[in-house]
Amino acid sequence: MLPLRRTMLLRGGTLVTMDPARSVVRADLLVEEGRIARIGPRLRAPPKAAVLDCARKLVIPGLVQSHTHLCQTLFRNQADGLELLDWLSRRIWPLEAAHDARSLRFSARLGIAELLLSGTTCILDMGTVHHTDALLRAVLDSGLRYTGGKCLMDAPDCPEGLRESTSQALAGAERLGARWHGKDEGRIRWALCPRFALSCTEELLRRVAELGERRGWMVHTHASENRDEVARVRQRTGMGNVAFLRRVGLCGPATAIAHCVHLDAGEVRILAESGATAVHCPGANLKLASGIADVPRLLRSGVNVALGSDSAACNNTLDAFHEMRLAGTLHLPRGGARAMPASEVLAMATIRGARALGLESEIGSLEVGKKADLTVVDLSAPHLAPSGPDPHSTLVYSACKTDVTDTIVDGRWLVRDRKLVSLDAADLAGRAAAEVAKVLDRVIRTSPRDRPARPDPERSVRPRRAGSAGAPRKRG
Ligand SMILES: [Zn+2]
Repeated sequence: MLPLRRTMLLRGGTLVTMDPARSVVRADLLVEEGRIARIGPRLRAPPKAAVLDCARKLVIPGLVQSHTHLCQTLFRNQADGLELLDWLSRRIWPLEAAHDARSLRFSARLGIAELLLSGTTCILDMGTVHHTDALLRAVLDSGLRYTGGKCLMDAPDCPEGLRESTSQALAGAERLGARWHGKDEGRIRWALCPRFALSCTEELLRRVAELGERRGWMVHTHASENRDEVARVRQRTGMGNVAFLRRVGLCGPATAIAHCVHLDAGEVRILAESGATAVHCPGANLKLASGIADVPRLLRSGVNVALGSDSAACNNTLDAFHEMRLAGTLHLPRGGARAMPASEVLAMATIRGARALGLESEIGSLEVGKKADLTVVDLSAPHLAPSGPDPHSTLVYSACKTDVTDTIVDGRWLVRDRKLVSLDAADLAGRAAAEVAKVLDRVIRTSPRDRPARPDPERSVRPRRAGSAGAPRKRG
């Protein structure tokens, strides 16, 4: 059950505010009715307020991950050693097509448990094609702040289990959006999620742009992740991915585009001029051998860049601290030691993520009046000592997920003293092997219908036997 909103006083912490001046202050922070009510020294705790001692702790805005797939959490460690297009067609599409409502709900809960325990309070998520209600019910019950939607795939060469007609895809998205957008006082918001240019017809993309505009829903998609993908898009459309998205009306302030690894100068300009967000996913881009997005150039050009872990099936972690450390170090050999300041990395994981979602005035920084989405980081472990002058550096280069003690969303305590309040982490982890085995069984049973996506015998995903953990077989 969803925990109640609490009046709470976070006492004596170091507040890394991520306000426009990037202020760091030693102060108390009072939460009332789900919002930050006051920040200041020695605040008086109202009657019945819960008081959290934050001495030797950092209080930071709740971490925002602007690209995830909760539907794929259950497929962690099932799809290693492949590049993007093979990873999708051999593993991920057959697995997603084999989800039922129960396995999807479980996958979402497993992902949410991991996200909350590691300090992420808000995600932009791309679902799968079917059973979206099950995923959103898990989100509703969890307290996590969420923007996302069902995945849209209508291209003729999409696998049968995931392909819909253009009208079916759009009607389904509109119906679900009408049901879910704005739930729990706006904690859940709907997004239109065409998967990527290769899995969508041009007609679908144009109608998504029109529907998003009409209903006020943002659009989330992937682009320019992998060289083969970029080459195929160019072959089909005669232009780069981002230029194509602009042509169909899908490049504007309400668009967040995951990856943006392989862009030409014109596409960088399009992103900057349109106000679209590029979502940097360094862990996934390395794991799928996709490449390294030129984030310093995007930032210099005025593009809003946010951060995301992508999915547990390609990364294979949903840990925002892992992504921050990668984002803070990956660009330095090419750009120089000052190419990616730690405060900029933390901005990508907080206020820039909030901007990507159109929530900049509500979350992403510690400012009075904003929603109380907070992450508390303990500084007492040896790997954080001695503390330096800049807590942004501590967070990006030294801290890790296990330093998170408390995760608060909307004034609700979702992780308290390192324990999930409304989910059972041990139970979820213990049941995951059995849950994925059922999905793998269904892949084997249904794969003949999904011939284009069928895993080949040498790399097939197999039902897990006790001890064998469904590990992919060695390549021939
Ligand atoms: Zn993705």
